[in-house]
Amino acid sequence: MATIDQYLETHAQRFEQELFDLLRIPSISADTTRKADLRRAAEALAGHFRRIGLAVEIIEGDGPALVYAQSPRQEGLPTVLVYGHYDVQPVEPLDKWTTPPFEPTVRDGKVFARGAADDKGQLLTHVKSAEAWMAVEGRLPVNLKFILEGEEEVGSSYLAKFIGENREKLACDCIVISDGNQFAPGQPAITCGLRGIACFELILKGPNRDLHSGSFGGTVTNPANALARILAALIDADGVIQLPGFHDDVLPLSPAEREQLAGLPFDEDHYMRDLGLTALAGERGFTTLERRWARPTFDVCGLTSGYQGEGAKTIIPAVASAKLSFRLVPRQDPHKIGPALREKLAEVCPPGIAMELVDMHGTAAVHLSQDNPFMQAAAKALEHAFGAPPVFTREGGSIPIVSKFAQGLGVDALLLGWGQDDDNAHSPNEKFSLSDFHRAIRASVRLWEEFGRLAGA
Ligand SMILES: [Zn+2]
Repeated sequence: MATIDQYLETHAQRFEQELFDLLRIPSISADTTRKADLRRAAEALAGHFRRIGLAVEIIEGDGPALVYAQSPRQEGLPTVLVYGHYDVQPVEPLDKWTTPPFEPTVRDGKVFARGAADDKGQLLTHVKSAEAWMAVEGRLPVNLKFILEGEEEVGSSYLAKFIGENREKLACDCIVISDGNQFAPGQPAITCGLRGIACFELILKGPNRDLHSGSFGGTVTNPANALARILAALIDADGVIQLPGFHDDVLPLSPAEREQLAGLPFDEDHYMRDLGLTALAGERGFTTLERRWARPTFDVCGLTSGYQGEGAKTIIPAVASAKLSFRLVPRQDPHKIGPALREKLAEVCPPGIAMELVDMHGTAAVHLSQDNPFMQAAAKALEHAFGAPPVFTREGGSIPIVSKFAQGLGVDALLLGWGQDDDNAHSPNEKFSLSDFHRAIRASVRLWEEFGRLAGA
């Protein structure tokens, strides 16, 4: 290992320059005039792989190309697939940037540029760790595959299709994604869970036109009144969702997981104040972090009905509608939520209302067992590089590509974020700490070594 560490030190400056070169390419996937820049970013990455001795393919699809690379196959070693994305978010508002977004500038040990943290800086750490292994040892301790895409920021539609059609090519024992954050500076985290989602639109129709609320009030069901009653029936005062069978599949937190979450250095007061609130709320019997990461939710995301202009207009609206989202936890099937919701709605919908429920999108939650040997190995690698063992966290949101990998390849993704919460991903003045960059390369070097030790285990 000594010589790989030496290699990293000797080449540290060049690695930074290579990162800056990549950051100079304005590969904004949302901007259709940037196609050539996206292509340039893909080719730059392909060049990195070629130079270190990996077989590389640029795969043309409907949108920006995929870059696929593969280390020389060695029998008996685990296969690891690294995912990353080379596209970036738009840069507006430009006047909020201290230095131009595509002129990487180092201030205070951090490089400022669009894509620095999300995700060019993070993905490059795994490329550079592979380089160090190949240069010093002539081989990697695992079979390594890379799949890099250029449309993560606009929905990953081509990659999602590609996964389904290329199971053999992408077959692996473990997926590594670095496109997120540490828990705090110097405090690495492994994300063990993502919530899923099921979204709907509920439309209630009453009389065939808006009615005078004086002439007709009291004789017909008002769709807006009905909507309020129906929505209220979906969740009780303790925050417990009232759909039939909804909780049957919910994977409860184990005592050990609850203890782990309780042990995280989470400042509830700061969280509340940051939101401008005087109280937090949620399902009774659970802590804020449990509610945020590991419990299902029901939320009304939008409400429409009746007169919304200035002053009074006394009507019974003909129609009322709401957009609904359920965040799901591990083991809940997003396809079961619609039927359960329909059953509940049929039960509580008052007479005189025609009801329509539109299914929107759904994704299952992701749960990674901490007993997973790859997760244990990753924890060792992170502890070595950061000098602190990782904390195991969850995410309240969904990362659709993680679910796509899980469905398509039957393999879970290890989410090892190298960034910081204040890196301004998607915002002006995006940055990435250069010490995080180098530390993450060291962690990645160890990662392959620890994974290699799982061979035959
Ligand atoms: Zn990203």
